[in-house]
Amino acid sequence: MSKPSSRIPSVDEVLRGEIGRTAAARFGHAAATAAIRDELGKLRGVARDRPLDVAGADLATTVAMRALDALQAADAPGLARVFNLTGTVLHTNLGRALYADVAIAAATTAMRHPSALEYDLATGERGERDDHVRALTCELTGAEDACLVNNNAAAVLLVLAALAAGRDTIVSRGELIEIGGSFRMPAIMASAGTRLVEVGTTNRTHLADYAAAIGPATALLMKVHTSNYRIEGFTREVTAAELAPLARARSVPLVDDLGSGTLIDLARFGLKRERTGQEALSDGADLVTFSGDKLLGGPQAGFIVGRRDLVRACARHPIKRAMRLDKVRLAALEATLKLYRDPDRLAERLPALAALSRPKADIDAATQRLAPALATALGAGFRVAVVETASQIGSGALPLDTIPSRAISMSPAARQGSGRRIEQLAAAFRALPIPVIGRTHKGALMLDLRCLDDEAAFLAQLPRLAVSKASPA
Ligand SMILES: *Cc1c(COP(=O)(O)O)cnc(C)c1O
Repeated sequence: MSKPSSRIPSVDEVLRGEIGRTAAARFGHAAATAAIRDELGKLRGVARDRPLDVAGADLATTVAMRALDALQAADAPGLARVFNLTGTVLHTNLGRALYADVAIAAATTAMRHPSALEYDLATGERGERDDHVRALTCELTGAEDACLVNNNAAAVLLVLAALAAGRDTIVSRGELIEIGGSFRMPAIMASAGTRLVEVGTTNRTHLADYAAAIGPATALLMKVHTSNYRIEGFTREVTAAELAPLARARSVPLVDDLGSGTLIDLARFGLKRERTGQEALSDGADLVTFSGDKLLGGPQAGFIVGRRDLVRACARHPIKRAMRLDKVRLAALEATLKLYRDPDRLAERLPALAALSRPKADIDAATQRLAPALATALGAGFRVAVVETASQIGSGALPLDTIPSRAISMSPAARQGSGRRIEQLAAAFRALPIPVIGRTHKGALMLDLRCLDDEAAFLAQLPRLAVSKASPA
């Protein structure tokens, strides 16, 4: 018998085999060679410790298969499609709003073809990229002017940098928010170079507090939507409408950061009211900022709308260039905003609103259809039930308001080790070809079906759910 290491095939041998050729055809000769070399290196490491008991030809096949697996794993998208069954419709970690069909079409065209991005087709001269959505934004919000940036965090930063650098910005202590992903108002102010002047207390701020703080160094009065919490009990907040006359009398612009913001009254879709951009402006805010991919249901974007001189100052500031929207999102945003001209059909056309206003009976019917399939897939080890639940809007809109929904709840049949079993189950759902993201609640994994828009794809992959079916009892 030859020495074990002499049986290890060469890179060329592996590449010449059928699987090696497949790997090279799919991933290129260089990548396939590197992956095979990797696998051969691992094999040599093993062979140093113990003899390899596989015939030479089989070894070449094994190495080729492992190399192909490694190439496929490395090629799988990291930004994978998932099923968002968390119950949070605008889930920041799962990408927030989905594009409407018209927005996808517009984005695709912008990707495929040259476009009049900064080109005025009427005059043949240079245009401004924000022009494509500026008039539309003004039409929908009643603003004099609008400026678009990468997201709402950028909108706030730009407003502060352009209008308040080196001077003071007055904010209530009750509104110094931190929202997910490390957006903290005091830190944003510091990076914009404005001095934060806090007024009032955490729970109570009065108009007189603002009035007393205004001085020669004051650049802005700012209101910030408390997106992810609410202060309740003995509280006093000065609304933008109450603050506006003071701002005007002292000639200090009032900025209102709405966060989610929306362009229509959500009550017509059975949701609670969230202040709209128009309302904030008619309350007297000089500038209003809000996101494109929260309740508005468009691509990631940040809006700065309001008084023309202030909006222009933002648009002219050098950092605007570092925050500008690309053509793909501008195209998607224009198409999304146009949908707002026909509010009656908005809920059909805008996925975020479709999900938020989906009738509970519809969600219930889906749970009844899918629960038996889940029970079969999970076997005796888990109890599967249809339960009442409450969906959340997410992304800081109406943080404490929920929408009644239905979920499929899965809990281990046996008490013992149930915490670990739930974690394993959640991991098994995440390991599916289209990962399923649910939420664990009181010892069960819950799948809120409000956002399930492709039942067939969900069902098709259930047989691959790798979870031990037996009850551990
Ligand atoms: C969400 C939010 C932001 C940040 O918006 P992004 O679009 O995520 O950058 C800023 N302010 C408030 C009040 C928010 O709710």
